[in-house]
Amino acid sequence: MRVLVLGAGFGGLELTTRLSEALGDDADVVLVDQADGFVFGFSKLDVMFGRTIPEAVHHRYADIVKPGVQFVQATIESIDPQAKRVETDAGPFEGDVVVVALGADLHPEATPGLVEGGHDFYTEAGAFALRDVLAGLDGGRVVVGVTSTPFKCPPAPSETALLVHDLLSRRGLRDRSEVALVMPLPVPIPPSPVASQALLAAFEERGIEWHPQRLVRSLDPDRKVAVFADDTEMPYDLFLGVPVHRAPEVVAASGMTVDGWIPVDPLTLETSYPDVYAVGDVTSVGTPKAGVFAEGQAAVVADAIIARSRGGDSAGYDGRGICYLEFGDDRVAKVDVTFVAGQAPFGDYEDPSEALAAAKGEFGTSRIRRWFGRDWVAHPTA
Ligand SMILES: Cc1cc2nc3c(=O)[nH]c(=O)nc-3n(C[C@H](O)[C@H](O)[C@H](O)COP(=O)(O)OP(=O)(O)OC[C@H]3O[C@@H](n4cnc5c(N)ncnc54)[C@H](O)[C@@H]3O)c2cc1C
Repeated sequence: MRVLVLGAGFGGLELTTRLSEALGDDADVVLVDQADGFVFGFSKLDVMFGRTIPEAVHHRYADIVKPGVQFVQATIESIDPQAKRVETDAGPFEGDVVVVALGADLHPEATPGLVEGGHDFYTEAGAFALRDVLAGLDGGRVVVGVTSTPFKCPPAPSETALLVHDLLSRRGLRDRSEVALVMPLPVPIPPSPVASQALLAAFEERGIEWHPQRLVRSLDPDRKVAVFADDTEMPYDLFLGVPVHRAPEVVAASGMTVDGWIPVDPLTLETSYPDVYAVGDVTSVGTPKAGVFAEGQAAVVADAIIARSRGGDSAGYDGRGICYLEFGDDRVAKVDVTFVAGQAPFGDYEDPSEALAAAKGEFGTSRIRRWFGRDWVAHPTA
């Protein structure tokens, strides 16, 4: 049984690793991605705020050496879910089972003025370029804003506002600066009221302006103002934006999407096409777009494929995810939320601590160890 995995992000890497761990050389997995390596979303913040360097957070796919797995670096140009076949710039590939894990594409150019007058911090290029911009920042009004929904990792804009405050404070620039956070949501993390309360208290304590339920529609680079959907405006000296998210064009063109994303069975992650699954940000499964959820969904699909290959049963998706939240001052909080269709999300929250910062570090290094078979130093001191 050949398994064709489209996309080597959080979902694709976890799926491939599980299949290889369980089936060894009997696995027949082809993993396709256009990039030459993987970067964690949270590593983008680490680079941007000068805690590490781009080279230290880039994990080369060429280093993947796993029994039963072949990595192909190629751009997928079309997907035929009926035939379970893709065309790529390296030729066609077919699978008995296909798993679409192509994530969400980011479009800074879709927000007028963002490329010319602001900075996006969600793309690798945008976040890495911000490292120099923030290093040279001399104070002023910094606005962190979201330009559309849905967007990945809903806590990331809040983390960014807190880390901007931290950076300005450490450099003695906070007194002559303002930090504002503009979000389309009523509270910072709607599925977790207790984490939202902790964040709102932290914003208040640090003098970070909180502007809920507002979307930035455009920037006017000449006047240095962000323009909202109702035509009201907010001035900025430095704008840090979350860009528009869309399913990759190749997914939209495949006919698999409904309202922009791939619908799946929330328990099995099956699409409406037989033997075609989808996991992670590319789906509309009902969990937030975050790596931990992509990973949990990939585990369920892996178990189903292993059960099919070896016999036995597999469990359904439980909707659970753990998210680490940067509060600044080298402290990290933890949110644990479970999403079950038809129920309100439920979970726990742990206050920021240095111990949780270490746990977040281990979250990253343990994945790199399993996915790439090597140790990782996220924050080299050199
Ligand atoms: C600033 C920031 C901070 C974040 N922090 C966290 C965090 O702390 N915790 C967390 O859980 N999540 C976090 N996230 C979110 C997380 O990065 C994503 O939700 C996660 O990567 C989604 O996994 P995925 O497998 O669905 O897609 P991705 O990881 O995005 O992988 C998709 C892959 O598909 C490939 N691809 C796309 N189109 C094509 C094509 N046509 N041909 C070939 N390959 C293609 C891409 O190159 C990519 O490698 C953060 C995101 C950002 C931006």
